[in-house]
Amino acid sequence: QLEILKARDKEYHAYVTIFEEEALSRAKEVQSLIDTGELGDSPLAGVPVAIKDNICTKGNLTTCSSKILNNFKPPYNAEVIERLNRAGAVIIGKVNMDEFAMGSTTETSYYGPTLNPWNTAHVPGGSSGGAAAAVAAEEAFYALGSDTGGSIRQPSAFCGVTGIKPTYGTVSRYGLIAYASSLDQIGPIARDVSDCAAILEVISGHDGKDSTSIHSDNIKYTTALVDDVKGMKIGIPKGYIGKGLDSEVRDGVLKAAKVLESKGAIVEEFDLDIVDYAIPAYYVIASAEASSNLSRYDGVKYGYRTKDFDGLQDVYKKTRSEGFGMEVKRRMMIGAFVLSSGYYDAYYNKALKVKARIKEGFDKAFERYDIILGPTAPTTATRIGESLSDPLKMYLGDIYTVSVNLAGLPAISLPCGVDRNRLPIGLQLIGRPFGEADIIRAAYSYE
Ligand code: GLN
Repeated sequence: QLEILKARDKEYHAYVTIFEEEALSRAKEVQSLIDTGELGDSPLAGVPVAIKDNICTKGNLTTCSSKILNNFKPPYNAEVIERLNRAGAVIIGKVNMDEFAMGSTTETSYYGPTLNPWNTAHVPGGSSGGAAAAVAAEEAFYALGSDTGGSIRQPSAFCGVTGIKPTYGTVSRYGLIAYASSLDQIGPIARDVSDCAAILEVISGHDGKDSTSIHSDNIKYTTALVDDVKGMKIGIPKGYIGKGLDSEVRDGVLKAAKVLESKGAIVEEFDLDIVDYAIPAYYVIASAEASSNLSRYDGVKYGYRTKDFDGLQDVYKKTRSEGFGMEVKRRMMIGAFVLSSGYYDAYYNKALKVKARIKEGFDKAFERYDIILGPTAPTTATRIGESLSDPLKMYLGDIYTVSVNLAGLPAISLPCGVDRNRLPIGLQLIGRPFGEADIIRAAYSYE
């Protein structure tokens, strides 16, 4: 199987590192644990999984697809890795991403882009593009990604697979290399809703090592896998199906809404205008947090260090100039600017106010609806090279995903048909805080 994977990955480049020997010996070890019954009925026992390269794996490269961490082997495992290990998972490698999870196409990776398995002239989405492509190309049974502003959902949509961004605080962030800590969440990318529910059940739950992790150990997501949406109230924000949306994506999404309606759900359109301000607020907040989080990469403690330098200041300057790519530098500059005295109130504080209003807007909507339905992204997978030269255009592609992170909500992306080029269309279902069961039930009923 590893040989098939390696051959296939030459074409798509989903992996940054493949754990060859280690995966084989782990598989043998898990087999004996299965044989002795020690793993009970764990649904993940022996199942191969790929891990996004910003999730720490002890003793194995964890690069964030950046030059600055190209030699970094963490001395510890992320909490999600510990949980997968206890469930008998077999990790087969680390998958490609946009550098430090900043991007929507996986093209900002230091190791080069991942290609979309449906059509290799197109991007797989991002930033968890390697994870979604690995699942779509059957190079992994499932993967763990991270989502700060859409990075699980949008690549899932582009690659025709299913991904869940959990409610903030559901999955421990311990060992997830931070991009924007108040928005980051780890979640599953898999072939269908049932697999996602089973994986989420294993990785979620309180962890004392993450102060934002909540107590919810008893959430059994798999019990929500029922084909029944009778009486479920579903709202479609008019702005989510209006201008800027590709017409084939709109048709796919509205058709999916009709399916749910035919199964007894009550579907209606409503106004959620505040999300118009989500993109600027997201990019101000995410960049501000990134500029702070990424200040730790200085060439001293770990990671890449410049070769020639003249004193400490020079180490910092050269290491960071050489180690970070363009997009990461752009975000750190924006972040430092919006946090600087004199501009703090005008930008950062204002963005926080918008964030609070977005949360209120969703709270109000959830008084009337159990679920909010819309597209995951305004288009299907874009062509390689299209957005690298136009970052603003790339940012605008996040229009339907970033507000979910700003409001801390759970959301799932699942396939709802293909466009005329046979590229998959993504349907997004958003739930109330800790309403994972609702979105899983609706997604399962649709599927
Ligand atoms: N595309 C968004 C960004 O570039 C979201 C990325 C993410 O969720 N990590 O910030």
